[in-house]
Amino acid sequence: MKVYLLSGGSVDVDRAVIHPGDDSRRRVLLPVMQVLLEHAGQHVLVDTGMPPAATDPEGLEREYGMETAWIRPVMAEDQRIDRQLAALGLGARDLDLVINTHLHFDHAGGNTFFAGVPVAVQSAELEVANSDAYLPVWDTPGLQFRVENGDWSPLPGVQMLHTPGHTPGHQSMLIRLPSGPLLFTWDAVYTEEHWRTGKLGAVSDVAAARESIERLQDLARGARVIFGHDRAQWEALGMSDRPTLIASD
Ligand SMILES: [Zn+2]
Repeated sequence: MKVYLLSGGSVDVDRAVIHPGDDSRRRVLLPVMQVLLEHAGQHVLVDTGMPPAATDPEGLEREYGMETAWIRPVMAEDQRIDRQLAALGLGARDLDLVINTHLHFDHAGGNTFFAGVPVAVQSAELEVANSDAYLPVWDTPGLQFRVENGDWSPLPGVQMLHTPGHTPGHQSMLIRLPSGPLLFTWDAVYTEEHWRTGKLGAVSDVAAARESIERLQDLARGARVIFGHDRAQWEALGMSDRPTLIASD
């Protein structure tokens, strides 16, 4: 198993986006990441990053009416998901599966590159994205969604965990490696600060979010934990604009 972290750029946000109630008006820069898993000749991509229009800082506002005063994308051409995969010598047709942890624009915005590849998503997430005010970038013609319900496994040793709270169909990921478990919280826990203090980020269901965090904390014993949008951790991992191998067996 090889685990690569891919760089999908950043979002420049009002701090209240990740710390609800914060009225400091301070801006913070949050990394946007994807993960590529390689195992026995199979390739699984987890999340697809921001839509191509995000390479223009005003692009999402112009095309989709997104409030860039609140969330402003920062993405170089080389941070588009197709370019990140190309840097590993891969194209869409080399992928066996794409997984969306959830359908927010910074996680499913690059889905447009993956027509013809199955895209696995929780049924609760598809339901809310269809009915709620999600930026309509997660669905494009030709996509084949594969619906999951609850925990499931895309590859041996890899478990997708249904961890609702941030959104109804949010998924986290636990990878068991000989060197020890690797836990990706994704947006169930944005940063180490949220993890340490138990502070919630943006959630659609407070009780479910707390329950999911408790579950992740149980699973985290002895594990290396990678948070969803933690710039300090991103820097500590030595991340650049290129895909980085962070674990292998
Ligand atoms: Zn996110």
